[in-house]
Amino acid sequence: MFKSYKDLPLGGVIEAAPDRTKKKTGDWREEKPLWDEAKCVNCLLCWVRCPEAAILVEEGQMAGFDYDYCKGCGICAHTCPTEAIKMVPEEEEVPEQARVRAKARRDGNKSK
Ligand code: SF4
Ligand code: SF4
Repeated sequence: MFKSYKDLPLGGVIEAAPDRTKKKTGDWREEKPLWDEAKCVNCLLCWVRCPEAAILVEEGQMAGFDYDYCKGCGICAHTCPTEAIKMVPEEEEVPEQARVRAKARRDGNKSK
């Protein structure tokens, strides 16, 4: 029995960052975000508010989503001031816009 609050073990302490490579957390999504690059003004509010760090940013610019870890909460879509993000059913095919674009940029940078 604890005699005072000082005897209680500390709670909520994460002593080491979890290894995200071992657990992909996007598996239970029912919806996923879809990005309309033409509407995006790169304010990065979606990046600030995503609880899973699943917004990809390259060279200071929005670059899409990491669907391996996005949980489909929709915060990014609610946050976006230009409605550049909308939530679509998980089954819907979406272009690999982000990864393709990011990869192309990386490859382009390497060749320079
Ligand atoms: S739906 Fe949620 S978890 Fe996925 S990118 Fe948007 S804010 Fe992040
Ligand atoms: S919140 Fe919307 S406009 Fe801002 S960076 Fe994200 S997608 Fe682009």
